[in-house]
Amino acid sequence: MARPELLIPAGNLEKLRTAVLYGADAVYVGVEGLSLRARQAEFNLDDLAVGVKEAHQQGVKVYAALNIFARNRDLETIAGMVRQLAEMGIDGVIVSDPGVLEIIKTTQPGLSIHLSTQANTTNVAAVKFWKAQGVSRIVLARELTLAEIGEIAGEVPEMELEIFIHGAMCMAYSGRCYLSAYRNRRSSNQGDCTQPCRWEYLLLESTRPDSPLILEEDARYSYLLSSKDLCLIEYLPEVINSGVGSLKIEGRMKSVYYVAVVTRTYRWALNSYLRDPAGYKCLPEWLAELRKISYRGYTTGFYFNEEIINETNPEVKYIQTHDLAGTVLEYDRAGKRILVGVRNRLTSDAQVELLLPDATIKLDPERMTAADGFIIREAHNGYQVYFPCEREVPKGAVLRKKID
Ligand code: SF4
Repeated sequence: MARPELLIPAGNLEKLRTAVLYGADAVYVGVEGLSLRARQAEFNLDDLAVGVKEAHQQGVKVYAALNIFARNRDLETIAGMVRQLAEMGIDGVIVSDPGVLEIIKTTQPGLSIHLSTQANTTNVAAVKFWKAQGVSRIVLARELTLAEIGEIAGEVPEMELEIFIHGAMCMAYSGRCYLSAYRNRRSSNQGDCTQPCRWEYLLLESTRPDSPLILEEDARYSYLLSSKDLCLIEYLPEVINSGVGSLKIEGRMKSVYYVAVVTRTYRWALNSYLRDPAGYKCLPEWLAELRKISYRGYTTGFYFNEEIINETNPEVKYIQTHDLAGTVLEYDRAGKRILVGVRNRLTSDAQVELLLPDATIKLDPERMTAADGFIIREAHNGYQVYFPCEREVPKGAVLRKKID
C-alpha cells in the first residue's frame, strides 16, 4: 500500500512551519495574486522560497496554487511566476485554467501539474482527458461519493487522486457562487468569499418591513444556508481504500491554531491506520480535539450519499470552545521554561494548554512570569511571558486557552 499523503493548508510562512512541525507530509500555498484566496492567505515569492527550503529539509513537499481563472492581462505574470516556482524547487503547481496549464507545459515541462477542485472533475472520461493534457494529479470535485472515486482510481490507476477530508463546505457547487460578490463585492470566484451563506437572515413580508419573521431555534437565530464542516477522521480506511493518495485539509484562511490541531490529530489517526490498517479505530480523544477548533458541526459531505445536498446546521453559526493563546518563541534550557509570544489575552485563571506534536501539556498561568521571574497576572497580545516547562519544546509550538 502506498503511504497516503497528509496535505495541509499554509496561508503564510508561520502556518507552513506549524504544519511541518505537527506532521504534514505536504503543504499547499497560494502565490500573491494568482491563487483563489484572498491576499492575507498568500505568499510572496521571497517567503515562499524560504518555506520551500525549510519544508524540503524536513522531507515535506510544497505545492503552489496558481488556480485563478486567468485573463489575458495575467498571462505574462503567470509565465514569469511559473519560471520562479520551478527555480525554487516547488513540488507541484495547482491549476484550474487550461491556459495556465498550457503555459506550464510549454515553458516548464518538468513541473508536476495538479488540477484544482475548482475544475470540477467528476468522472473517468474527464480524468483521462486531463491525463492526456499532462496533469499528474487531480483534486476531485467534493460532490463525488467514495464509490465513484473508487471507480475512477480503478480505471485510471496511474493518475494521483486527492480529495478533501476536512474543513469548511460550500452550499454552492464547488464554490461557484456569486452570493459574496453580490452582497459584499468580494467574489468567491476570486478566492475572497465572505461566507454570507453563514449569516443570520430574517424573512420580511414586503408590506410589513417593520415586522420581520425571525427564524428561531431555542431562542437563537437560524442559519438555514450554513453547511456543516467536513470531517472524515472516522472513515480513513474507506477513504484510503477508495484509491485516494492525498488527503487534503481545507483552510488556507484559517488560524495557526487550526493548522496545529488538524495536522497533529490527522497525523495521529493516519499513523495509527498505517500501523494496523485492519484494526483502525477512531479514538474519542481525536474527535474531541477536532471539536476544540471553530466548526459548524461535522458531516461526511457527499462521500457516502450523493442524494444529499450539503447538510446544514440551522441551529449553529459556529462552535468555538478554544482559541490560540500564543506560540513558543524559544526554550530556555537553563531555566526550564518556555518564552511565549502572547496572541490573545491571558489571565492567571485561564485554562492553558501547550500542544506538542505527540502530547498536550497543561500549563499553570498562575506561574506566568516576566524574564526576571516576576509573576504576571494578565498578558495581552504582543506580550512576551515565560511558563515553567520541564520538557524541551520546539519553537513555534502552539498554546491554546479555553474560552470563558
Ligand atoms: S457564500 Fe457560501 S456558498 Fe457561496 S461561495 Fe461562499 S461559502 Fe460557498
